[in-house]
Amino acid sequence: MLGLMQDHQLLISSIFEHAIKSYPTQEIVSNTVEGGIHKYSFKEWGLRTKKLANALKSTGLKIGDRVGTLAWNGYRHLELYYATSSSGLICHTLNPRLHHDQISYIVNHAEDKILFVDLNIAPLLEEASKNFSSVQAVVVMTDKKNMIDLNVPKDIKILCYEEFIEKESDEFHWPELDERTASSLCYTSGTTGNPKGVLYTHRSTVLHAFGVNLKDAIPYGSKDCVLPVVPMFHVNAWGTPYAALMCGSKIVFPGPKLDGESLTDLMNAEKVTISLGVPTVWLLLLNHLRSSGKKLETVKRLIIGGSACPRTLFEGFGEEYNVDVIHAWGMTEMSPIGTANNPLFNMNPVDKKEFYDQKMPQGRTVFGHEMKLLDDKDNEVEQDGVKQGRLLSRGYWVLKSYYNDETQKDRFFDGGWFDTGDIATIDKNGFMTITDRNKDIIKSGGEWISSIDLENICVGHPDVANAAAIAIPDEKWDERPMIIVQPMPGKTITEKDILDFYEGKIAKWMMPDKVAFTETIPLGATGKILKNKLRDMFVKN
Ligand code: AMP
Repeated sequence: MLGLMQDHQLLISSIFEHAIKSYPTQEIVSNTVEGGIHKYSFKEWGLRTKKLANALKSTGLKIGDRVGTLAWNGYRHLELYYATSSSGLICHTLNPRLHHDQISYIVNHAEDKILFVDLNIAPLLEEASKNFSSVQAVVVMTDKKNMIDLNVPKDIKILCYEEFIEKESDEFHWPELDERTASSLCYTSGTTGNPKGVLYTHRSTVLHAFGVNLKDAIPYGSKDCVLPVVPMFHVNAWGTPYAALMCGSKIVFPGPKLDGESLTDLMNAEKVTISLGVPTVWLLLLNHLRSSGKKLETVKRLIIGGSACPRTLFEGFGEEYNVDVIHAWGMTEMSPIGTANNPLFNMNPVDKKEFYDQKMPQGRTVFGHEMKLLDDKDNEVEQDGVKQGRLLSRGYWVLKSYYNDETQKDRFFDGGWFDTGDIATIDKNGFMTITDRNKDIIKSGGEWISSIDLENICVGHPDVANAAAIAIPDEKWDERPMIIVQPMPGKTITEKDILDFYEGKIAKWMMPDKVAFTETIPLGATGKILKNKLRDMFVKN
């Protein structure tokens, strides 16, 4: 047909080429596992990435083969992201906080051929390697000087990253792939059943990066300095390595050091303007700022998501440090950004209370992603901001099915809708609020009590470090809420203190029936509360 537009494939290699040509001097800064800061330009990153692509090719890997990574956020990990996907290999990020049995399950399920590992994660890999069935080589992500011995089965080759790439050419012509080619793989760390793989395509990844960069989502720019605290093994650091390079932002990688002090110092030293992470990380940062008296000198925006976020975080950073905390929601199954909370033109809060009220919802959907609510009978729920329903999602970057796993078939509906497993409300302006996970909501006498609401209020108490609400069986009401409290170090709180604190903040019938205390609330590999473990500890016995 005459007069049509060009038809280029949406490829990760196009982000790579754009980044090195348009922003060659922008910096990538990494806090390294070996110790010390590493800095280089986009241009140097590009040359090394091409050397790595050549090295990978020389091993005989073919398009579609999986390359595993067990690594923190750092420059070599970014080289791997692009060298693998751009040359048609699949970058499979693994979460080093998982148990070694889960690691070997995932590696075998994905049939990873080569594994790249950071120095201080090597012991975990050694344990896991006893059960590997597909891995032919392990590459330790370090130089000759810091290289270590690895105790892995004899048929697995051991290589040193810098030696692996050193003699290779820094020229590489990326293949013209179909945009629907698989590019990366990430397993969800569900609390029940085996981890499930989500396989992204070049197309979904590039469109997601565009979506992230919409002004109504997260956007990055060339005047930004981005520090992804969210790990590159957790849904591709929420797409930051693609979206930030697409817009030429300076990137700062924290390596394995995610404590409040390390983050504050790195943010101030490198003039970070935007950072992303889960509530636990921001709580640690806030506590450190308060106790040390330090300031965040350049940070303007913190993106928060991944699990329920207490209001005190929004208020603490906003009021004490003049940092805008922006709430976002998503999941591994959707690359992950689904919604972000940005105000509408005519939203003019009259006071601080209203300002923070408006910041609390997880936000409106980003173009490219759609959502709706269904009740238990699959009828659509009215979007009035009050009625709750199961949240369904579909879009350019939402999964069609899990990778080689048929166990979750009933979560996929006609029209491409995917049942997220979250319960939510959506108001008339499209603002979505997560009220719970389907399996965590507390069903009391036909009414639903949000465990997230109960937790968010409780952590507002100055002596509470963390809190988790779970359902306890009840003869009359089916289920009633119990709140499990982790006090701040050195503080003692009583049941009465907690219940008094709830007074006036929730309806009487929502009040927890029981208050329990624990030294630590167990958290999973991605920072989420392990409610199954708490149920075992507090309900079943
Ligand atoms: P993951 O795949 O590990 O990123 O986990 C996705 C799940 O985390 C979602 O289905 C939600 O249950 C939860 N989640 C993500 N973001 C938020 C948020 N902002 N508020 C509450 N829960 C969230």
